[in-house]
Parts: sequence; structure tokens; C-alpha cells
Amino acid sequence: MGKIGETTLEIDLAALEHNFRFLKSKIGPETKFLAVVKAFAYGSDMLAIAQKMENFGVDYLAVAYTKEGALLREGGIKCRILVLHPQPANFEELFQHHLEPSIYSPNLLKSFLQFIEGQQSAYPIHIKFNTGLNRLGFWENDVDYIVEQLKDRTEIKVVSVFSHLAASEDPKEKEFSQRQIQSFQKICEHLNGKLGYTPFRHMLNTSGIINYPEAQFEMVRSGIGLYGYGNEEKVDKYLKPVASLKTVISQIHRIEPNESVGYNRAFKSEGFRTTATLPLGHADGIGRHYGNGKAHVLIKGKKAPIIGNVCMDMIMVDISGIDCKEGDEVLVFGPDRSAEAFASSAQTISYEILTAISPRVKRVIINP
Ligand SMILES: *Cc1c(COP(=O)(O)O)cnc(C)c1O
Repeated sequence: MGKIGETTLEIDLAALEHNFRFLKSKIGPETKFLAVVKAFAYGSDMLAIAQKMENFGVDYLAVAYTKEGALLREGGIKCRILVLHPQPANFEELFQHHLEPSIYSPNLLKSFLQFIEGQQSAYPIHIKFNTGLNRLGFWENDVDYIVEQLKDRTEIKVVSVFSHLAASEDPKEKEFSQRQIQSFQKICEHLNGKLGYTPFRHMLNTSGIINYPEAQFEMVRSGIGLYGYGNEEKVDKYLKPVASLKTVISQIHRIEPNESVGYNRAFKSEGFRTTATLPLGHADGIGRHYGNGKAHVLIKGKKAPIIGNVCMDMIMVDISGIDCKEGDEVLVFGPDRSAEAFASSAQTISYEILTAISPRVKRVIINP
């Protein structure tokens, strides 16, 4: 066990490269690759990940919000950046940083056309269609409206058309996913026929890449897979988790029978217990639902359940029977203990725990 001294999120860039190569091996040599780096690259280190992906030669990066794209540009990223969920309030910032908006509704199209009016060269945009997720996107029958709006508007160029699967990881929803894919194909044919040129198409996220290889079109978009999780064991075994959350034992207590631990006395000891206090709480991303015995951490490879209520800055774990001392390292998740397993003990998913780790936790890049 090393001596990390404080709570640390290790970001392993060799694991990122491994995952990227794996995902690339699942797509055609001509298929473009978009790396999703929204939400601080799924809670890791947005700039470090984006730099690495740019060096690997990905075709696009994607963020959710304009602000995230601006941070990438300010950090020196030159790669093309798709903003999945832009808002008119940020068009100026988007334009200044040459970020490419996803245009997902008649209202957004209208306001972007207004904003861009008089611009000399054609500004790249991406049109998003809703094919069943019912979250963001134009409807199939909006194609004529879009074409009408874009007619003779040389300030805009539709670079790509895309949609998003609602249940790409769920084999029970295969039929639904296939219907989404067919509907998307129909939309693209209709749109291309009327637009007079051919934007490229993309639909698949990580689980889509694995489960619907026939629907790669010209590009795929991967997030969670790059960070080492595939939503299924059969995929996880080929991937390497990029982020490891480690902490240390701050203090050890011996607890007598009938004592309590933590706020509201939520843990009551039946017998003699030994507990360790760790510098990691709900303000660091370990939500209260991880407490009261739901989840555990690993100390010297042994399970130490989180007992009592999670505090803002600390958790207490039961280390009875584990040979450890103050200052010893504690593993919350990482390659030897997946974030998915940690998350599922509190009824949530890897995406949520990864993106929850707050900026207060020190990031350390390994294998740069
Ligand atoms: C977040 C996101 C992705 C990435 O999905 P993963 O499951 O993490 O691969 C792809 N496309 C869109 C539109 C997204 O919002």
C-alpha cells in the first residue's frame, strides 16, 4: 500500500488509450470517432483527457454545455467540438470559441439563424433528431420545416445529423432500438434528398457500438467506454477503469457495545467494533445513500462497510478484523473494484458516481 496522504482521484491515461483502441477495433477503419468529454470527462480531468484524445487523432470532442467547450478552448484544444445542449444565452461564447452547436428544436434553429445572420462563411451546425428517447431533438416530420428554414442560408452548413438510442445497453429493447435506427435512416434519406448536400450521420454511444455495429453510419460517439465501463460484464472485461478513487485512514476508534457512530446516532454497535474515519463525504461525491451499511470500501483488500450517516466531509467505516492503521490507503473504486459495483450497492450507476466526484478531490494523472 502506497502513502497517498489524502483523498485522490487517479486518472490513468494508459487505461484511456487501451479503451480507445478497444472501441476503435469495434468500428470500421473509415468510421469517425467522437470522444464525449462532457461533465469534466465523466468526472475525471477534462483537459487532460481532451488533450490525450486530440493526440490520438479523434475527429470530434463533445461536451454538453457551451461553458465546457469554452474551457477546452481556453486550455488550448484545437479539435472540433460539438456542443450537445447549447442555449441561446451562450451563442456569443459558442461563436467566439468556434464550438459547433447541436440544433435540436425549431426554436433553437430560429434563434441561431437570427444570431448568425450576415456571417460570411458557413458556420458548422449539427441537427439532432428525436427517434424515441423523447429528450432533445426535432421530430421526423420537422424535416420539411428545417429544409425550408435553411434554404438560401449560406451562413450555415449542416455538418452532421444525429440521434441517440434510448436503451442501447438493454437486449430486451432490441426491437425498439432497431426501430429507432430505421427511423433515423429514413430521416437522413429524406433530409439529404432535400438539402442538396450530404451531412454525415451518427447515432451510437458506447453500448450502441457494442450492440448495434450495423448502425455506425459515418461516426460513433463514446463516453463511458473510454472511461473504462461498458454497462455489461462481457464488455467491462475488455476495458480498464481510468479513474481510481483512493483515500486514507484519518483516525481509528474502538467502539464499545451500545455506542453509536456519527450523526443522528444512525449506527448502533451491538458488540465491540473498530471504526476508521475517512476524509471523504457527501461534499466529495459520496451521497448519503452510500451510508448505513449499503456500500463498502476496500482496505488491504478487505471489505469495510460505510456505517452510519455519510457526513459532509467524512465517512466512517467498520474495520473490525482488518489489520490496518492510521495513514493506510483505502480504495473506494478503481481497476480492482469497479465504480459500477460501488455504485450499484447504492442503487445507482457508474455514470453517476464518476461524475459526482467533486473538484475538491485532488486529481493525479498517471501514465501520461
Ligand atoms: C453522453 C452522450 C453520449 C455518450 O454516451 P456513453 O453511454 O457514455 O457512451 C453520446 N451521445 C449523446 C447525445 C450523449 O448525450
